[in-house]
Amino acid sequence: MLSEEHIQTLKSRLRGELIEPGSAEYDVARKVYNGMIDRHPRLIARCRDVADVITAVNFARDNDLLLAIRGGGHNAGGLGVCDDGLVIDLSRMKGIRVDPEARTVRVEGGCVWGDVDHATHAFGLATPCGFISTTGVAGLTLGGGIGHLTRRCGLTVDNLLEADLVLADGSFVTVSAEKSPDLYWAIRGGGGNFGVVTSFLFRLHPIDTVYAGPMFWELEQAADMMRWYRDFITRAPEELNGFFAFLVVPPGPPFPEHLHNRTVCGIVWCYTGPMEQAETTFEPIRSFKTPLLDLVGPLPYPVVQSLFDPIYPPGLQWYWKADFVNELSDEAIALDVKYGSAIPTMHSTVHIYPINGAAHRVGRNETAFSFREATWAQVIVGVDPDPANKDRIIAWAREYWDALHPYSAGGAYVNFMMEEGDDRIKATYRGNYERLVAIKNKYDPTNLFRVNQNIKPSV
Ligand SMILES: Cc1cc2nc3c(=O)[nH]c(=O)nc-3n(C[C@H](O)[C@H](O)[C@H](O)COP(=O)(O)OP(=O)(O)OC[C@H]3O[C@@H](n4cnc5c(N)ncnc54)[C@H](O)[C@@H]3O)c2cc1C
Repeated sequence: MLSEEHIQTLKSRLRGELIEPGSAEYDVARKVYNGMIDRHPRLIARCRDVADVITAVNFARDNDLLLAIRGGGHNAGGLGVCDDGLVIDLSRMKGIRVDPEARTVRVEGGCVWGDVDHATHAFGLATPCGFISTTGVAGLTLGGGIGHLTRRCGLTVDNLLEADLVLADGSFVTVSAEKSPDLYWAIRGGGGNFGVVTSFLFRLHPIDTVYAGPMFWELEQAADMMRWYRDFITRAPEELNGFFAFLVVPPGPPFPEHLHNRTVCGIVWCYTGPMEQAETTFEPIRSFKTPLLDLVGPLPYPVVQSLFDPIYPPGLQWYWKADFVNELSDEAIALDVKYGSAIPTMHSTVHIYPINGAAHRVGRNETAFSFREATWAQVIVGVDPDPANKDRIIAWAREYWDALHPYSAGGAYVNFMMEEGDDRIKATYRGNYERLVAIKNKYDPTNLFRVNQNIKPSV
């Protein structure tokens, strides 16, 4: 039992707020992005600085409290919040410093990707992130980081140079290739298992205006398009990224009215090569089959990063199932067309993200992220604003995944998994799992950091 005195002591030691049940902010502060998640923590420590994080980690450990870490709060399984325990909420830690000469950016643990894009774009620079600007930097990075720049610049972790962490014993370390290389290896894919990351240092690339946007085709052309895409995207120049999707056209601008609410297949492109070569690069794409809709053109990179934000505000119901894919066989394509054509709600979708190109040049044991030889990460997402449709979106995603899973590579991208159990986590880390356990044994033997895709210590 936590005494009032303990809580008051914690409060007095924090620069940030300590939020408790009954306080005016509690119900907002405990909400995460996925509206399906409804957890009630005992305390939420909205940390202002590293000192606050150290205090909160020590408090959770000394009082045997379950500890959750909230970066951007986007995790579909709700791993940024917990019942009864203490949440370390980093949303007030949003410092960013761009070093244009060194081409790096230092980012505090509570930033979302839109914060980073805004800061770096002013210098004509960018680092690889995801497809939605409201996703947290911390959770996305620690799981790997797949996005529009994967084929050209690798995963987000391939651009992580250094990180500051508060460990389970309350100590503070900076990790890099030179400093604590075991932890540096583990956090590049191993999630929040090893400590609270208070800041990240990323490499930046000269990426400013890109040639990007979605193209849609009729469902009847989906099988042909997928067969063409599987060959095209693995051979395309690395400056070109494009993920394949089944989706329902949202009923609003910029989409023409005659396409509203129609289920289509599409590819969302992002080309970062020389602008004068953009049209030539897209010529074979446009000439294979004329798209129903072609919204691809020059756009500032942060605009591309936030294209889908309005469709996906916080609070919708989300259910995810995922797999890595080595080959898109004709049989798998037939199943994708079958289930992709039966998307249950306007927000639901399926995405097939390329993780080839530069991401393949890093070996499977060089970072904790293991599936370096996979060609795609596929995710089936049932989404809807109405909780009454929860069962429908879950049933579609599960049925689709059950049918398709036999054609997959085995594990799944940890950031696309919900609660799937230890076997799935082991299947995802494969040969890297034992090394992760050894590092966990060394730095977090009591498993203080366990509200995550958990690597259990063996001591
Ligand atoms: C709409 C949407 C779009 C997405 N798009 C992409 C995409 O394009 N590419 C991609 O790779 N992923 C994508 N994801 C998945 C995303 O990477 C994960 O959901 C990720 O967990 C989100 O990170 P977060 O910080 O927002 O999450 P949170 O819910 O805050 O945390 C998630 C996990 O990370 C841990 N964690 C958070 N902060 C820290 C920290 N500072 N130190 C240590 N551990 C921490 C938590 O313990 C928890 O286990 C998307 C998710 C959504 C909902």
